[in-house]
Amino acid sequence: MPQYDAIVVGSGPNGLSAAIVLARAGLSVLVREANETIGGGTRSLELTLPGYLHDVCSAVHPMALASPLFRSLPLSDHGLQWINPPVAVAHPLDNAPAAALARSMEETGATLRNDAAAYRALFSPLVRHWDQLAPEILSAPLHLPAHPFSLAGFGLRALWPAGALARTAFRAAPARALFAGLAAHSIVALDQPATAAIGLVLATAGHACGWPVPRGGSQQIANALAAYFRTLGGVIETGARVDSLDSLPPAKAILLDLTPRQAIQIAAKQLPAGYLRSLARFSYGPGVFKIDWALSEPIPWTSPVCRRTATVHVGGTLEEIEIGEKDAWTGRHSERPFVLLAQQSLFDDSRAPAGRHTGWAYCHVPNGSLRDMTAVIEAQVERFAPGFRDTILARATKNCAQLEQSNANLVGGDIGGGSNHLAQLLARPVAALDPWRTPAKGIYLCSASTPPGGGVHGMCGYHAARSALKHTFNLKAE
Ligand SMILES: Cc1cc2nc3c(=O)[nH]c(=O)nc-3n(C[C@H](O)[C@H](O)[C@H](O)COP(=O)(O)OP(=O)(O)OC[C@H]3O[C@@H](n4cnc5c(N)ncnc54)[C@H](O)[C@@H]3O)c2cc1C
Repeated sequence: MPQYDAIVVGSGPNGLSAAIVLARAGLSVLVREANETIGGGTRSLELTLPGYLHDVCSAVHPMALASPLFRSLPLSDHGLQWINPPVAVAHPLDNAPAAALARSMEETGATLRNDAAAYRALFSPLVRHWDQLAPEILSAPLHLPAHPFSLAGFGLRALWPAGALARTAFRAAPARALFAGLAAHSIVALDQPATAAIGLVLATAGHACGWPVPRGGSQQIANALAAYFRTLGGVIETGARVDSLDSLPPAKAILLDLTPRQAIQIAAKQLPAGYLRSLARFSYGPGVFKIDWALSEPIPWTSPVCRRTATVHVGGTLEEIEIGEKDAWTGRHSERPFVLLAQQSLFDDSRAPAGRHTGWAYCHVPNGSLRDMTAVIEAQVERFAPGFRDTILARATKNCAQLEQSNANLVGGDIGGGSNHLAQLLARPVAALDPWRTPAKGIYLCSASTPPGGGVHGMCGYHAARSALKHTFNLKAE
């Protein structure tokens, strides 16, 4: 068997990022992927009809543009092309114009009625310091900050429950709803501490970088990472599920792009009992019900600003979103769930035949749910886009079990690699200064179950690889 310096198990964005950082340091690296296709959460397939390309998981990528690692890689040389719609996200409301987060503060403020000044006061300092803040936020929770004042300014507000921050900062429905929709990406009930953090980060990234989609689907992110990795001599094997670390060729370091549950399964012999017990305490959040549509025409939104963005947050007011998210968090199915919707084909004509379109959406449901949420999701979209149902040519859906079947990391349909409640934002997956390094010699975790957590940014892989370079190879990353 060929000998590698390092083996990465799993080819999600974090696995591929870890592999690149190791290969860039001159190491020989093998990636083993269970699926027939690479990419994990960054894959695209014709899920409905021939010629309609759908993102299987991730669709919109603010954190990819913010990622210090991705920014350092020549991904455009390997075919990755970002498309940045003029509006990052729109948030339709009943009988009123939609709120919208545009790149410009002024354009955003114009949709927020009398909250424009409050919005600017909250976000302008964060946007101004984004270049300092992004690397801090995308790092370990416990670290010596290079920019303590910028980080403290963010952190004081980030610790708030999102609902409370929205009510305190804003007076009217549009700004409150817009912030609730952003914070709901945490997949945590909005009355929980630190749910404001993800809302603040996503809004700031929206102003600083936009919310882009990759031309040709999120698969292009994985393809570009893999192509660059291969130029560094890296090897990728697909259709190669790893059931036990004993089955791997010899290597000095093994990096697991897996959540704690799979790490326990495949590395039970290598990891010490105390650490295995800590991993077993790691908890998973609500799941999602995912739906993709082939559409005869663009979604007929009532509010025109919804056609200027690839991302629409469908769920109405702050109060409604709070109830829907609380439902999923506490094990109930919402009758009016908050729906995250993407319409990539409005900006990328490679996604559908000429004149036709695609739609992508999901809502949060209790972990492990098998319920079909098609009707409630489509009713929510129809509410703000009358006639939507008539545009549907075909649909494909996945419940939590089907999502997990397609990628073992989606435990119970949890798309974030584990719950994002405050304790687990700080101890991910365990409380440690270097949470990527396990107590077993040469074994590291590099998935979204480590800091900085879910989303496509590759920074979990980056930090894990740096730890491996330091502790196993006595090398420094570029
Ligand atoms: C429906 C959905 C929508 C999403 N939307 C967005 C979005 O719009 N924007 C965004 O930024 N993020 C989004 N995400 C989240 C994002 O996809 C993940 O946070 C990200 O992919 C995590 O990367 P990862 O490398 O840690 O894990 P993954 O991408 O999950 O990759 C893990 C890989 O490991 C493989 N694997 C698992 N077990 C084994 C094994 N035993 N042996 C070998 N291989 C194994 C899996 O097959 C998979 O390829 C979404 C996720 C889902 C599911």
